[in-house]
Amino acid sequence: MSNIVMNIRSVAEDDTGEVAVSYTGNDVTYGELWAQTGQFAAGLNDRGIGEGDRVAVYLPNVPQFVTAFHGTLRTGGVVVPMNPQYKSREIGHLLSDSGAQVVVTLSDLVPFVDEVRDDTDVEHVVTVGQETEGGIDFEAFLGDDDPEIVDRAPDDVAAQPYTSGTTGRPKGVQLTHRNLSSNANTAADLIPNGIQTDDKQLGVLPLFHIYGMTVVMNAALFNGAAYYPLPEWDAQEAVSLIEDERLTLMHGVPAMYNDIINQPNAEEFDLSSVRLAGVGGSGIPVEVLRRFEDLYDVNIYEGYGLTETSPITHFNSPEQGRRVGSIGRPLPSVDAKIVDDDFAERPRIEEGPVDEDEVDLDEITGELVVAGPNVMKGYARLPDANEEAFTEQNGKRWFHTGDIGYWDENDFFYVVDRKKDMINTAGYNVYPREVEELLFEHEGVADAAVVGIPDDRRGETVNAFVVPVPDIEETPEELKQYCLDNLAEYKHPREVEFVEELPRTTTGKVQKFELRETEATK
Ligand code: ATP
Repeated sequence: MSNIVMNIRSVAEDDTGEVAVSYTGNDVTYGELWAQTGQFAAGLNDRGIGEGDRVAVYLPNVPQFVTAFHGTLRTGGVVVPMNPQYKSREIGHLLSDSGAQVVVTLSDLVPFVDEVRDDTDVEHVVTVGQETEGGIDFEAFLGDDDPEIVDRAPDDVAAQPYTSGTTGRPKGVQLTHRNLSSNANTAADLIPNGIQTDDKQLGVLPLFHIYGMTVVMNAALFNGAAYYPLPEWDAQEAVSLIEDERLTLMHGVPAMYNDIINQPNAEEFDLSSVRLAGVGGSGIPVEVLRRFEDLYDVNIYEGYGLTETSPITHFNSPEQGRRVGSIGRPLPSVDAKIVDDDFAERPRIEEGPVDEDEVDLDEITGELVVAGPNVMKGYARLPDANEEAFTEQNGKRWFHTGDIGYWDENDFFYVVDRKKDMINTAGYNVYPREVEELLFEHEGVADAAVVGIPDDRRGETVNAFVVPVPDIEETPEELKQYCLDNLAEYKHPREVEFVEELPRTTTGKVQKFELRETEATK
């Protein structure tokens, strides 16, 4: 049987009362979780929803997310996770594109569904929280059967998350049972001693996003660990949860680690129970990684991936002789290489990372492409996007990541930037990440982002947005000079602007398009 939900049943069958989900002091054991997923599956079946049907889960990190996710899989259905920060305009596209018949959501979010419901196939709105007009309460939706798991083929779709749309309209990413299980297994294998039943995982990554979804739904829960969700990111709350419950595993995006080390009482935090701190979603500035590790004596494991690759393709673990600044080596099941525009392999450098001021990056970089069992079946209903995303070569189906990087002879890969974020100024390529890394090294900088702004003379200019550390009196001019002292002249920001915070997605990525737009409308 290839239905991945089998894995939860296996843990529940040897149920020894282990906790699966612990939320605001209430514990749900694996036995209880399995029973609840059965009731949710029965609720779907009672309404004629099952094999191949789409169920949208539009929730923050609450226990019902887990039940709805696995309950849908039990029926052979497909989960469509949706960002709970989205409003009607955004969910309208996801609902109509996916053809979802059921939406599971918070009562407070029902008005957004109602606004677009007529243009979709939505028949049932299941609500968590107070009763809402037009919706059916989560508990009332449940059935009382314990339906059999519907068998699935490895290539059947299990989940259809959407890209966040930083590169255009969100695309539905069809991930199969094989995709998700291959990644869950390798992700767990990469952790020293794997994931154990006495592990306790902090749940601050949103479950609708592939990173949170894989590390919780698949890696942690398939291995019997306990999941401690937090519906919203709050550094103090997250740390208190770790301290109080002695959590052992945490995963976060770089912005969360940066937030923790910038708390006024950061030095007092006790993270000694954590045996693994994973990071991904965007590159973690080296300075942030080092400060976190020095403060708490906990190793950070960086992973790299995309929604389209379920997500992890590369991992940089201390056990494998980690190289700070690298995204690590490809997972054992993944093939990866760096290619030029004609799909010819770029030569490997001897050993990375290179000193970006001494090497002309254009000489060694290319696009990172990957192939493996975790690579998506394809985008839903977008033949042109699929055509562009894949290149067939020697029996392999290579996926174009859209990231620019280089590789070394030891198989370590380095991502320099996203293709679309590269700045071309007066004919020179500038990789914003290099300038951001430098800014993070400055004691006056709490957060930073560098973007290209259209410019009549240069094509684009390099601009930096900086969140200054309170109480340190650095001026934008001084930071500009600092960059000029440390970088080739063409790379230094022509303008440094102080801001209170940077616009970020729920997954912690800086919304560079917003910074560009704000600048353009000035
Ligand atoms: P869209 O595809 O709509 O632009 P998105 O980029 O936010 O949305 P994700 O799948 O969440 O979609 O992000 C994948 C991207 O995140 C990668 O292509 C890469 O640019 C970046 N990324 C992830 N992990 C790392 C890492 N460790 N280092 C550098 N970049 C990373």
